[in-house]
Amino acid sequence: MRVLMIAPPGAGKGTQGARIAAHFGVPHLATGDLLRRHVALRTGLGQTVQQYLDRGSLVPDRLMQDLVRRALAEATAHGGGYVLDGYPRTPAQAWAAYQIASSLGATAQIALHLRVDDDEVVRRLLARSGIEHRSDDTEPVIRRRLALYHEVTEPILQWYDRRGILLSVDGMPRPDQVTEDIIAALRDRRGHHADRPGPVPALLAAA
Ligand code: ADP
Repeated sequence: MRVLMIAPPGAGKGTQGARIAAHFGVPHLATGDLLRRHVALRTGLGQTVQQYLDRGSLVPDRLMQDLVRRALAEATAHGGGYVLDGYPRTPAQAWAAYQIASSLGATAQIALHLRVDDDEVVRRLLARSGIEHRSDDTEPVIRRRLALYHEVTEPILQWYDRRGILLSVDGMPRPDQVTEDIIAALRDRRGHHADRPGPVPALLAAA
C-alpha cells in the first residue's frame, strides 16, 4: 500500500499515519518527525531547518526533496509500500513527489485527505502544546501553519482528485472511529492505481 497523507496541522496525520502504516505493515514516513529528529540530533540539516520549524514556515523544496527521496528509496528498495505523511504540501512538491516515486517505480495509490474544521485544529493543537511542548504549537504559529495549509496545500487535492486517487475522510470523530473509517475506505480502494499523473501545468502555474 502506497499512501500520501494530506491534512491540516492537528488533523491527526501523525496518529492516523502511524496506525495505517502498522495495519498495512509499511513504514510511516512523517516529514515533520524526520525534520524534528534532525533538529534534536543537531545535524547540519537540523541546524538549517530549525528556524523554519519554529516559525511554522515551509522548509525549502530542495532540502525536502533530498529528505523524501532518501526516505522513499529506502522504504521501496525491496518493493515495499509506504505512508508518506506531511509531503507534498505545495503544487511543486506534488510534482516532485510524483517524479521521485515514479523513478522508484512506486507512485502513490492513494492520496488520503483528513478533513477537520479550523476551530477544531486550533483547539487540538493548543491542547497538545501543554503536553508535547513543540516549538510551533503557539497560537500565532498555529494560525500561520493553518493559513499556509489553506493557501498552498489544499489546492493540490484537486490534482489527486483528477488522477482518481483522492480519498477524503472526515477527521472530526474520535481517533478510533477515524482509523476504522480510513481502513475500511482503503480496503474498498485496493487494486485501484492511477499510474499517470494527468495534466499538471495549470496547477503549477497557479503556484
Ligand atoms: P503539522 O502538519 O502539524 O504542521 P508536521 O510535523 O507535519 O506538522 O510539520 C511540522 C513542520 O515541519 C512544518 O511546519 C514545516 O516547517 C516542516 N515541514 C514538514 N513537512 C514539510 C514539507 N513537505 N515542506 C516543507 N516543510 C515541511
